[in-house]
Amino acid sequence: MHPPEIRARARSLYLAGATVAEVSRTVGLPYPTVRHWCKDRPEPKRRASALRCFRCRSEAGDPSDRSQFAYLLGLYLGDGHLVVGRVPVLRIFCADAWPDLIAACEDAMRDVMAASVQRVQKQGCVAVQSYGKHWPCLFPQHGPGRKHERAIVLADWQREIVEAHPGDFLRGLFHSDGCRVSNRVTVRGRRYVYPRYMFVNESADIMGLCQWALDLLGIAWRMNRRNSLSVARRDAVAALDRHVGPKS
Ligand SMILES: [Zn+2]
Repeated sequence: MHPPEIRARARSLYLAGATVAEVSRTVGLPYPTVRHWCKDRPEPKRRASALRCFRCRSEAGDPSDRSQFAYLLGLYLGDGHLVVGRVPVLRIFCADAWPDLIAACEDAMRDVMAASVQRVQKQGCVAVQSYGKHWPCLFPQHGPGRKHERAIVLADWQREIVEAHPGDFLRGLFHSDGCRVSNRVTVRGRRYVYPRYMFVNESADIMGLCQWALDLLGIAWRMNRRNSLSVARRDAVAALDRHVGPKS
């Protein structure tokens, strides 16, 4: 990692509530260096309540939290990881090819948690990440192993949010593990182009959640293979376009 990234990571850990000593151990740098970064030019430490998740806050949060959460939940189930260490970190991997999607992912993390968000460049993709003690409250699905090797079940309160915002949830799923493609078909010498959506995921549970959210919106789907869902009927594609659209 480059020094500015380490410094940004140290500051975000500190702002998320870690002590200087904890940050120094986590980033593997001397205490005085980390203390200087965190304290000598301090940004105002955020009010503790601002860093709590909407599940733990006493006051009612902004309702836009919920639609952004539904989107983030879709991204997380598609291509996210939550590592629960001293300070938990939520990471979502976004391909370099879709810069608007990277920005949308960052916005969703900020809207949901008001925590700081970093981009870490990897080969061919960007990890959008945020440290915060409350991420596990929002993603109780975290656990050892890969998602398709364990059961993925939504908590009742998560189901309620998806039921209220199925389109946002689907946008997250299709942005991470889906795509909108153009099918070219030739019928009696004439060429037609049919757009359709695909969603591919190895987890039968996550596939079931995608089907459920499509059913909530009355959008027809079918399975091409065990791990691959397709939305191809013209009215269904038009309906999904209102919620998802092509990646950019
Ligand atoms: Zn919480």
